[in-house]
Amino acid sequence: MRPHTLRCTACGEEHAPERRLPRCATCGQPLDVVLEIPDGAAPRDGIDLFDRWRDFLPFEPDDPVVTLGEGDTPLLPSRRVAAQLGMERLRFKNETVNPTWSFKDRGTAAALARALADGADRIGTVSSGNMAVSVAAYGARAGLDTTILLATTIADEKVPPIAVHRPRIVMVDGDYGELYFRSLEAGEVLGIAFLNSDVPFRVEGSKTIALEIWEQLGRRVPDRIVVPVSAGGNFRGIVKGFAELMEAGLVDRMPALVAAQAAGCAPVASAWAEGRDRVEHVDHPDTIAHAIDNPFPPSGDQVLRLLSRYDGTAVAVTEEEIIAAQRSLASDGLFGQPAAAVPLAALRRLMESGGAGRSEEVVCVVTGAGLKYTAALAHHTSETLHCRLDDLAETLQG
Ligand SMILES: [Zn+2]
Repeated sequence: MRPHTLRCTACGEEHAPERRLPRCATCGQPLDVVLEIPDGAAPRDGIDLFDRWRDFLPFEPDDPVVTLGEGDTPLLPSRRVAAQLGMERLRFKNETVNPTWSFKDRGTAAALARALADGADRIGTVSSGNMAVSVAAYGARAGLDTTILLATTIADEKVPPIAVHRPRIVMVDGDYGELYFRSLEAGEVLGIAFLNSDVPFRVEGSKTIALEIWEQLGRRVPDRIVVPVSAGGNFRGIVKGFAELMEAGLVDRMPALVAAQAAGCAPVASAWAEGRDRVEHVDHPDTIAHAIDNPFPPSGDQVLRLLSRYDGTAVAVTEEEIIAAQRSLASDGLFGQPAAAVPLAALRRLMESGGAGRSEEVVCVVTGAGLKYTAALAHHTSETLHCRLDDLAETLQG
């Protein structure tokens, strides 16, 4: 691996790159990879993250990696939704086309590469869905012993897409937020590399979303980026990507940041609204956006710090707004899971309140595919016509 250190996002303490626990030894806050971006850094030819973003990631060309072709997703200009909102420059970063249909594959590939560099032969994760599928798939491809810890509250339909890759699945009865920390402790003792939601190298994978947006816009940053926030790792990664582009002199500003949450589980948006610098545990998460219902986000405090450091805000939206946004995305040809529609719902809310302007260039990150959560389909029924074959022409005419 390239020379790097791990730096605490809160107190700034430096930790050796060999450190396995992804939290600061002094203050317990999450760590960031600190890496020197070389002069002349630029995207390169290649089919996976490691080839394309070699200059920006802490890996050497001969480091062992396992890839499924993650990343390089479309930045799709909105047609219908933009027209409805009176915007000319609204774009969707379509993460639904990743190998396991969510942004998680970027972070899984990067965190797995770190684990392989460490010589790990056992990996695992704690997930409510998307990350479990991703780690199970990459673990299978890598031929590693893979453990997936799930909350017993997981929807039945989410288990088979994980189980098909044959990991060891453990349903854990207890607080999901606490499970994150317990898994890291157990992994340290048992030698299982837990590629959890906000570990430093998963954040490095998410960073490539920002790098791709920069490249796809012709090496510019958008005016505003809207990201759904659960554990906070993906938000951290995207912001880190833009910040590193600025530090490297490749752009001269940051986009305005929006952390989008569902009101039924909004620890970050609540803290932001109340001016707190720490997230508080949400006792009873209740939202259709299950992919972002982490009740105690391990990177929540760091998301708040980033919103303060840069031009940021946090927005929580209702269930009705999420479902309407999911329908709006579909009107533009994209079918995202409810969590993936939360940014659009948040943007709509910001525009109504004057917090965002029509002339802005905005990117909403559509994080995961709609078919991952078919229970939401009940909200999108439509009338269908029925006819006999002989009556087809008549029916179509009517
Ligand atoms: Zn610290």
